[in-house]
Amino acid sequence: MRACVLPVATTLRTASRTVRHFAASACLPRDKNVAVVGGGAAGFYAAARLLAKTKNVNVDVFEQLPTPYGLVRFGVAPDHPEVKNCTTKFDQVSGSPRVRYFGNVQVGSQQLGLDRLCSAYDGVVLSYGASEDRRLGIPGEDGENGRVGVIPARRFVAWYNGLPEAQGLRVDLESYDKVVIVGHGNVALDCARILLTDPADLATTDITANALETLRNSKVRHVEMVGRRGPLQVAFTTKELREMTKIPDMDFICDRELVAAECSKWAEWLDASRSLKRMMDLLMKHTVGEGRRQKKSFTLSFLKSPVEVVYDQPGAEESAEAPPQRIRFEVNRLEGAVDAARAVGTGAFVDIPCGMVLRSIGYVSTPLAGAPFNKRRKIIPNIAGRVTDDSGELVSGLYAAGWVKRGPVGVIATTMQDAYRTADAVIMDISNGHIGNDSDTGRSRDAVDQMLDSSGVLETCVTNAQWKRLDAHETEAGIKTGKSREKVTDIDRMLSIIRSE
Ligand SMILES: Cc1cc2nc3c(=O)[nH]c(=O)nc-3n(C[C@H](O)[C@H](O)[C@H](O)COP(=O)(O)OP(=O)(O)OC[C@H]3O[C@@H](n4cnc5c(N)ncnc54)[C@H](O)[C@@H]3O)c2cc1C
Repeated sequence: MRACVLPVATTLRTASRTVRHFAASACLPRDKNVAVVGGGAAGFYAAARLLAKTKNVNVDVFEQLPTPYGLVRFGVAPDHPEVKNCTTKFDQVSGSPRVRYFGNVQVGSQQLGLDRLCSAYDGVVLSYGASEDRRLGIPGEDGENGRVGVIPARRFVAWYNGLPEAQGLRVDLESYDKVVIVGHGNVALDCARILLTDPADLATTDITANALETLRNSKVRHVEMVGRRGPLQVAFTTKELREMTKIPDMDFICDRELVAAECSKWAEWLDASRSLKRMMDLLMKHTVGEGRRQKKSFTLSFLKSPVEVVYDQPGAEESAEAPPQRIRFEVNRLEGAVDAARAVGTGAFVDIPCGMVLRSIGYVSTPLAGAPFNKRRKIIPNIAGRVTDDSGELVSGLYAAGWVKRGPVGVIATTMQDAYRTADAVIMDISNGHIGNDSDTGRSRDAVDQMLDSSGVLETCVTNAQWKRLDAHETEAGIKTGKSREKVTDIDRMLSIIRSE
């Protein structure tokens, strides 16, 4: 503990004059400084809560990309613009005089290690999301003979949403007419919907110009979404499924007998789950039999686990009639109670011919240099947002929020609640004196700025005002092409727009 230096001088500004004020007998509480790592939903909601519930906490948000909002910009589907309304709230947060946005700054890099943040700030909230995805772990997944293999849905989503690092993805939608998606979640449904929607209906959204052009030339007419378990175990939600049923000129196909059999087997349990019941009703109502009548089809397949991507002989003619690959599945049966059903292989196999295969079986977080990480659960270990080390001890001043705290599940509303809880833990620790001790002057705002200056962050970062310049540029470019926004998809170009205008 450092001794408090008296007298403390503070400058109070009034409307007419500046008064020098000396507190002769007590230390004035100093402002507390909190760093947030990751400018996605969790980071901004944590900052919002800290602003709303305190008067003397400053928040610095560090984001590795020049642009803020994380998956709200690069994950949420372009035809779901209403979901992105939360950015209005995030903008209010960044507009506060107590918040600073530092874009283009990767925490954990050589420039700015986590240790430097921890020694300068009273608290550090890790909310850096989940940047990888789960693999299938099957032969052929990584491609062969020049074939791309299985593409992560994460990358496909990032490609159509303009994430700079995903723009090099080879997306060929012209050499075949069928795509298989492994996984039964909302991200899988997003991909299926984007592939089957008339591109004219996406033309006013913020989908990238390149993705829109690729979709306009697409020959893909059929998408099959395959899951290892049954209809009562799907992870997607009714709202997203209903959207699929509304795509015009498209057959919606699934195994009605299986759905009916599962519903009748688990009728009592289903009675208690209204949302699942609605979903099953939707499936029964909209499913047409096999035998395609429309030009397009969406098939929901159950009880199949992928075991291998099988490539045709090298030199086989690739065309819409001769799909470049097949994906082999083992047929499963279910064992156990409906809410914990396990898929067990039957030893029977089916091949589904297709062009592109997307895997969509979940995102995963990766470790950040210097921070504890639970390798098995792939999250930052924490107790209600307070980070713990390998031995389960609390790490003073370190917190986690969002997907990196609880795993990559949950919508923005869930992430908001979760980030609020973490911010509340920070506030409680400040008020209990566990962090942000007033005598610890080494953690002042000046000390923070010195650290940011000496690490070069102040020189290379993108500020909120600069991001707003890029934002205006994208919006204006969108107006010219009749879109809500034309995203800039290259970091150098982003920086040149920010710095030239
Ligand atoms: C494809 C997809 C579609 C979705 N659609 C919806 C939807 O329609 N509706 C809905 O409610 N929810 C949707 N969600 C869920 C929602 O996006 C998440 O709940 C939410 O984004 C999680 O927020 P987060 O802040 O934890 O992670 P993120 O949004 O990923 O934010 C993390 C941020 O941290 C940054 N970062 C990473 N590492 C570092 C570092 N070392 N230094 C600095 N910054 C770093 C990243 O660049 C990123 O900006 C969707 C999710 C996905 C994947």
